[in-house]
Amino acid sequence: MQPTCPPSAVTGLNLGVRPRNMTTHQLDLLENALDSLAEALAKFEEGDAGESKAYKFAVLHMAHFIELVFKHHIAQKHPLLIYKDPFAQKVDKNKTITLWEAVNFINNEAADTVSAEFRTDLEWLKRLRNEIEHHKFTMDVPQVRITMGRLFRSVLEFLENYSDVEIESHIPDRTMETFKVLSDEYEFRRRDAIREAEEVEEANTSHHYTGEEEPPARLDCPNCDNPTLVINEDSDTGYRCTFCGNEESDELPAGCDICGVQTTLGELVFWENEAGQTEGRCYYCSGKYHAEKDD
Ligand SMILES: [Zn+2]
Ligand SMILES: [Zn+2]
Repeated sequence: MQPTCPPSAVTGLNLGVRPRNMTTHQLDLLENALDSLAEALAKFEEGDAGESKAYKFAVLHMAHFIELVFKHHIAQKHPLLIYKDPFAQKVDKNKTITLWEAVNFINNEAADTVSAEFRTDLEWLKRLRNEIEHHKFTMDVPQVRITMGRLFRSVLEFLENYSDVEIESHIPDRTMETFKVLSDEYEFRRRDAIREAEEVEEANTSHHYTGEEEPPARLDCPNCDNPTLVINEDSDTGYRCTFCGNEESDELPAGCDICGVQTTLGELVFWENEAGQTEGRCYYCSGKYHAEKDD
């Protein structure tokens, strides 16, 4: 009879499944790196779908991916360089260099290959990983998302400039969309803005019938063409785009200053009244209706 796997072995993290003392050679490093990346993307996607706890695993897998990809880069210089003491009489293959030693090596070869900003993000990742491993982790979802995106793009840029490792063709189809979003800053920010707008809409929509018509919480932004123009108390127009910051649209709700009918800004005609104030008048109150009827 086959021994059955405990459920934790099936559903748990893939980290550490491979024996630590396994002889590491170049191909293993890259393959393991790509496995970790696929896991990181899948978990990031789960996080995006509302399972915020999944970001925790996305962070762990991403950290693993970055560490392995740097080690792979070093191993390509010489396979022995990934061991702590390649000059020992007998190399201890259980002791490999750390991520920071890998980063130092890369920067010693050519200064600032790993930029100060990139290092700061790596420090953040390291701290977060420690916190997660010691269960001291408090999730700041927007920060985790933004920093992970930035880190991932830094790694891709590094690989593009300094190695022949090509990542994209190894990304499984099921996580390709997440890969694209994470690797494209514009698309990444756009997704976050849409998410934020959805949250504002959700918070400003009453879920029971009030009998009164409410102003729309979310509109299309005419400036950036995203569904991200939402109610905002700090805005003079009462609305602000979560993506581009635009506050204006002809579709904003507005009332006629004469008869009070509710319509949209684009439907009103504006002019100055005798007191020098700007007035918005509807089709009927502006006199246009009568003018056109008399034609
Ligand atoms: Zn906009
Ligand atoms: Zn009117």
